[in-house]
Amino acid sequence: MNYMQKKIIFFFLSVFISISSVQAYNLVLPKDKKSVTNKEYALFAGKALNTETIIINDKKIYTAPNGAFAHSVKLKNGHNRIVIRSDYSTRIYNLKKIPQIKQEKFPLKEFEPKRVIVKNDRTPLRQTPEKEGINRISHLFKGTTLLINGAQGDFYRVYLSKNKYAWVLVNDVEESKPNEKYKIPEFITMNSDTYKNASVHTIEFTGKLPYTIDEFGNDIVFKVYNPEYSQNSVYTINIKKPEKYVYKTTLTNGTYVFKVNDILKPENNTLEGVKIVIDPGHGGSETGAIGCLGDKEKDIALKIGLELQDRLRLMGADTIMTRECDGYISLDDRIELAQKFSPQIFVSIHLNSMPDINVNIRKNRGTSVYYYNENSKDIARAVQKSITKELQIGDDGIRQKSLKVLRRTEYLSFLVEAAYMTNPLDSVLYRDDGFAYNTAKAIADGILNYLTCD
Ligand SMILES: [Zn+2]
Repeated sequence: MNYMQKKIIFFFLSVFISISSVQAYNLVLPKDKKSVTNKEYALFAGKALNTETIIINDKKIYTAPNGAFAHSVKLKNGHNRIVIRSDYSTRIYNLKKIPQIKQEKFPLKEFEPKRVIVKNDRTPLRQTPEKEGINRISHLFKGTTLLINGAQGDFYRVYLSKNKYAWVLVNDVEESKPNEKYKIPEFITMNSDTYKNASVHTIEFTGKLPYTIDEFGNDIVFKVYNPEYSQNSVYTINIKKPEKYVYKTTLTNGTYVFKVNDILKPENNTLEGVKIVIDPGHGGSETGAIGCLGDKEKDIALKIGLELQDRLRLMGADTIMTRECDGYISLDDRIELAQKFSPQIFVSIHLNSMPDINVNIRKNRGTSVYYYNENSKDIARAVQKSITKELQIGDDGIRQKSLKVLRRTEYLSFLVEAAYMTNPLDSVLYRDDGFAYNTAKAIADGILNYLTCD
């Protein structure tokens, strides 16, 4: 090969390389190139360059003006071949779907009643023997004595009163020592005091007994059970729900104190005197969801959080943030930080991604707000309303979900999923310079609307 030939070949090679590296799409999802999955769908997302057309399994994929695209492929059991092609590049995925193992139904084993002791504070007492879902009926305190008379899977069945059962994880309790001299707790006294903006309710026993809280309807119903004394030994306090309220339960020795506080209307249409925790989701090594263009959820959440802090302070609120830079902080640390500050409101900020099931690129877009406790439902709704009104973004609704940062009752809490990271149209919105500011403003306005409405 003479010099000229070499030069010509080199020229063609460099043209070829530059075409494939400049024009080819960039694939962000799937993040890990696993070859085996048990998911229903595989989500492919990325950025196409210039006028590149993306075709996945012979289907032309919509590309947003900024190049963002996303497409989910429904997987069948066994081998799935997925071909992603543009004019300049072809990638082939071989994904093996293994069928999801159906959760085994464990049989209920009944046995003679025996005592167990709750090992830690905030142990969930559940309506059903399931680890997830909206089935918590209270959080038990360390040292509470329970009477159990059955087991199913990882759970014990707790006997509360006649025909009333609940469930606790086997690992959350320990058997009481047989030689211990145990005295069945006795009722001492019960008391309710009403103050201007609060009410305090006390039930006193000689030992630690289980309780439940029911927040549905017009009342908050607080019950303590003494099943060893008699199957009808249930002590009930009915409290009429204030308009806007928070509450806290404590147990010292055998005395339950249940305190309900009104959330007061701030004066002069400002947030003066209102304490708010701002919690930007994820951080550090925990990136959260990845967007079509490679954006990280943790970064956008922080941007919104910082804007929200400015906005709320401007409106007179007293705020703290669970993180102000890109660092890892655990959920427990976030909650501990919040509790020390004793706020009225806790706002967590996240961005959504497609679920593993029912992937619908068109439907899964826009803002949604999550809450857990009933007392936070109205503020979640007010914030959702404000965001969808002020921002040109889809309304993905409000949802109740059992998320750790939302379970406290001593302050109102909600979690904003500002947009879908994986939605191409949403990526145009959250990439916009004004998105963080506008979202923060809408959240702040929603909070103010909620606090000032009658
Ligand atoms: Zn998140």
